[in-house]
Amino acid sequence: MKKTKKIQIGTRFIGGDAPITIQSMTNTDTRDAQATINQIHALHQAGCEIVRVAVPDQRAADVLPQIVKACPIPLVADIHFDYRLAMASLEAGVDKIRINPGNIGASWKVKEIVEKAKFHQAAIRIGVNAGSLEKRFLTEGVGIQSRHLVDSVLDQANVLESFGFSSIVLSAKASSVPLFVETNRQLSAATDYPLHLGVTEAGFGIPGIVKSTAGLSILLAEGIGDTLRVSLTGDSIQEVEVGIALLKSLHLRQGGIEWVSCPTCGRTQVNLESLAKEAKERLSHIQTPYVIAIMGCEVNGPGEAQNADFGIAGGKGRGVLFQSGTIVKTVPEEQLIDALVDLVESAERKE
Ligand code: SF4
Repeated sequence: MKKTKKIQIGTRFIGGDAPITIQSMTNTDTRDAQATINQIHALHQAGCEIVRVAVPDQRAADVLPQIVKACPIPLVADIHFDYRLAMASLEAGVDKIRINPGNIGASWKVKEIVEKAKFHQAAIRIGVNAGSLEKRFLTEGVGIQSRHLVDSVLDQANVLESFGFSSIVLSAKASSVPLFVETNRQLSAATDYPLHLGVTEAGFGIPGIVKSTAGLSILLAEGIGDTLRVSLTGDSIQEVEVGIALLKSLHLRQGGIEWVSCPTCGRTQVNLESLAKEAKERLSHIQTPYVIAIMGCEVNGPGEAQNADFGIAGGKGRGVLFQSGTIVKTVPEEQLIDALVDLVESAERKE
């Protein structure tokens, strides 16, 4: 794992030995403070650890103090073009701003933002997107390449450094997975600043989840990335759920249950989908990182169930319950989840 600089974002840290954090962004109209606060609370409940709000105009900046006050997690203001919105956001008490110094304009404006961020002990994320790269970093006749994005991000980090600022997080996002991966590999090799990862505009539903997961997994498995956002069109709660599941799958985060369940087939002799759903719902409060296997038959079922901390191997209208590789008992299908929940809850009480 690449060791990056550790940057404080309110009550959290990004980089260094800090755990990889999950971020999301509200999609309410920020000017509607109450709707935005409600969404932030829902995201927090889902496991979001740092949240970003767009600040497109002065009216949005005006309600930021109210949002900051009610926000249970570090808050990031997303600013484009108008340095006064960055100044107002920092004065409102946000923990980080996301800017692209290239579109803020004159150097004195960037300097003022930096001085204000220093005063308020806020961090700055330089966020560059392939879709809005400054023309001076492009090569005529050639499409956007990873080196263009890397050059742009590093150039802008240099601008902040030239004003004596180093509480910097970097991001270079692209909607093309190969471009995103190669860019962040190069960026990671070139800098010690922590990296915020995201396949931008990944889309919605299954293709969006797969695209984000494909790009993020490669980098995270190589030890690259300090914080991430899964960008999906639609429900931002899903962004958080996918991010958490991704980190757990890569064993980069512990806590809560890792579920193993079979896809079902012609041998399945119990209503596996409904058993697995009910088990997941009723054990959502468990914090111990147990592995629980819910399997549909006696072919692969006993093997997986035995290898897990707890398991069910379905039979005809019944199931065998396992704990730590040992058969506990055989239970009728309708009592299987009650029995599993009792077993898991009682084990957690003893932890
Ligand atoms: S565990 Fe059994 S029921 Fe489930 S997919 Fe495998 S063979 Fe089919």
